[in-house]
Amino acid sequence: MAVEKQEYVKAIPPKENLSEWYTAVVLKAELADYAPVRGCMVIRPYGYAIWELMQQELDRRFKETGHKNAYFPLFIPESLLQKEAEHVAGFAPQVAWVTQGGQETLTERLAVRPTSEAIICTMYAKWIQSYRDLPVLLLQWNNVVRWERSTRLFLRTMEFLWHEGHTVHRTAEEADQEARLILRIYQEFIEGWLAIPVLVGKKTDSEKFAGADYTYTLEVLMPDGQALQAGTSHFLGQNFSKAFGIKFLDRDNQEKYPWQTSWAVTTRLIGALIMIHGDDRGLVLPPKVAPYQVVIVPIFYEDQQNVLEKARELAQRLAGRFRVHLDDRPEYTPGWKFNDWEMRGVPVRLEVGPRDVAKGQVVLVPRVGNGKVSVPEAEVEVQVGRMLDEVQAQLFKRAKAFLDSRIFPASTVEEVEEIMTVKKGFAKVLWCGKLVCEETLRDRTGASPRVIPLDESETGSCVVCGQPAGILVYYARAY
Ligand SMILES: [Zn+2]
Repeated sequence: MAVEKQEYVKAIPPKENLSEWYTAVVLKAELADYAPVRGCMVIRPYGYAIWELMQQELDRRFKETGHKNAYFPLFIPESLLQKEAEHVAGFAPQVAWVTQGGQETLTERLAVRPTSEAIICTMYAKWIQSYRDLPVLLLQWNNVVRWERSTRLFLRTMEFLWHEGHTVHRTAEEADQEARLILRIYQEFIEGWLAIPVLVGKKTDSEKFAGADYTYTLEVLMPDGQALQAGTSHFLGQNFSKAFGIKFLDRDNQEKYPWQTSWAVTTRLIGALIMIHGDDRGLVLPPKVAPYQVVIVPIFYEDQQNVLEKARELAQRLAGRFRVHLDDRPEYTPGWKFNDWEMRGVPVRLEVGPRDVAKGQVVLVPRVGNGKVSVPEAEVEVQVGRMLDEVQAQLFKRAKAFLDSRIFPASTVEEVEEIMTVKKGFAKVLWCGKLVCEETLRDRTGASPRVIPLDESETGSCVVCGQPAGILVYYARAY
């Protein structure tokens, strides 16, 4: 039985109601669902397929640059977590504890990992003795738990998936190079694959990772003008090596503490992807991470088996080069399918009907823009490839134009306030470096310092105190 296509479209609120729109898209596109545990989500196969594609590409890039995967335990004894004072203070409010195992009350509580520095550094202290053991370039793909008060599908959940890299180096320079290498890998991936432009730089001291010397970050701008931290790469200095007793004998026969980094991106990137690219019709996926890059919808009736056969033949041909899905369900109309796959964000739709078969052509429709074309069947691979590249490029261009249009220079606190409440976006300000000015700006505007850019610099006077200032900072309200 055919379902009226209008019904489906109406089920998604317009994107200007961003919050409702977002939840509706996540649920209706079957990316994720609420779990029967507060603050947790179930990632459904369509959403998980996006994560797998992201994971494969990042993993490929990590391995290409000499990193290896390992796996460490989910539980961290409390005494280990407490070894690095800033680290434990930073994470304490969010740690979930195991106090009982079976019938037995534990003598030492076990933290469900909020991040794994404590357990990994404990092992590094055992494994690293000599400069010959360095560098250590490990990461793990895993889950972590942080006891969040308010949660949102993908963007903030109590349990989430990520990778966490943990590297150890002989010198500070090598460790900083590593932290920057990872930053570059993240930027290339987020911009090139997810089609999301980022602002790249350092966090201020108050916003850095608990236990790090400094933190590199990638910030993205969401459609409501709020920033989302998309990834971080931390230079840990010798803080953890000293706290955990990781020491090595250097070439000069001196015992030294090595230098470390840690870094991560998480499933919240999927949340960014949905919000940034989606539209009133639903999800829009960049082709590079779309579980189906092409959906084939045959337009046929029962007596037109030749159309169905042609669709099957095309699916088989394209499957060698693209992720293809043939929607040959007879119980839905082509119009219903068009809407359904648009809502699910498939980048290219291929239509084939009786007239197309007769003419030896197919119709290609991109998910964004007005590029609907008829192309000769012989050229289908080339034309699909071209259209996917165009969709990928167009999504980045669109998101970049939005980001650029939402960066506003500000020279007074009032201007920053106006940017947060009216213009909505990043306020670009100069800062003297004093904590009191940072806190004043935060208190008065609700914005936090998101990033100190690496590739821009300016001098002038501080946005708060008016004293000479040489630090450029992007402020925004944040997710
Ligand atoms: Zn100041």
